[in-house]
Amino acid sequence: MRFRFIAPIAAVLTIACTETNTITGRDQFLMIPASQDAALGLEAMNEVKQSVKLVKGKPAERVARIGKRIAALSDRPDMQWEFVVIDEDVLNAWALPGGKVAVYKKMLDMMESDDQLAAVLGHEISHAVLRHGAESLSRAQAQNMAIAGLGLAVGTYTKSGETAQLAATLANVAAQGFVALPHSRSMELEADDIGTRYMARAGYDPRAAVTLWQKMQKMKEGSGGQPQWLSTHPTDQQRIDRLSAKMADYLAEYQRAKKS
Ligand SMILES: [Zn+2]
Repeated sequence: MRFRFIAPIAAVLTIACTETNTITGRDQFLMIPASQDAALGLEAMNEVKQSVKLVKGKPAERVARIGKRIAALSDRPDMQWEFVVIDEDVLNAWALPGGKVAVYKKMLDMMESDDQLAAVLGHEISHAVLRHGAESLSRAQAQNMAIAGLGLAVGTYTKSGETAQLAATLANVAAQGFVALPHSRSMELEADDIGTRYMARAGYDPRAAVTLWQKMQKMKEGSGGQPQWLSTHPTDQQRIDRLSAKMADYLAEYQRAKKS
C-alpha cells in the first residue's frame, strides 16, 4: 500500500521546484514550467473574452499603446503581449501568465493621466514578467494537493487537457479579479518596484505611481467602498514609503528615457 504514494511524490519532486528569479533574486516555488505560460495565458484570456464585453476604439487603443511601449522595454519583450479593456463598472486590473493584461473601464476612467495609467500597466506587466500568476497558481495547487493527500496528478501539465483545465481555473480566477488567488505581499512589492522602473524606462513619470497609491488609499478611506483592485492590492503607507524611498533611482531612469 505504501508504494501507491511514491509515484505522485516523485512527480512532485521532479516538477515542482524552487527557482531563483534572475530579476528579483527571490526564490519562487513553481509547478508550472515557463514554457507553458504563453499557452496558459492565451487559453485563459480566450475564456475571459467569451464571458465579458470588451471596450473597442480609442480607450482600448490608448491602453494597448502605453502597455506595449512599457512591455517592449521590460525584461520580457518577447512575450505575446496583449492589452484589453473590459467594459465593466469595476475598479480592477490584472495580468495572466504569458503577458495578457486587462484593465476595467471604471479603472481606466479614473486615471488622471497617461503616467498614472502607465503605473497600473507597469505594475501588471511586472506580475507577468516575474511569473507571479504561475507562482500563485502553484501555491494554490500545492495546497490543494496537500488537502487531497497528493491525489492530484502533477507530472502531466504538458498534456493539453491539463493545460485547458489550468487555463479554465485561471480564467475563473481572472474573472473574479484574482480575489481567489491573491498575490503575496512580496510579489506586490516586487511588482511596484519593477513596474515603476519599467514605466520610467518607457518615459512615463514614475511619481505617478505614488499618486496612484495615494489615490487608492483615499478611496479606501472614503465612503465609496473599497476598489476591487485593493482586495488583492492592499495599500498602506509602507507601499508608498517603499516607492518614495527609491524615487531617485526611478527618476534617473526617467531622465535617461527623456534624453534618448
Ligand atoms: Zn499587483
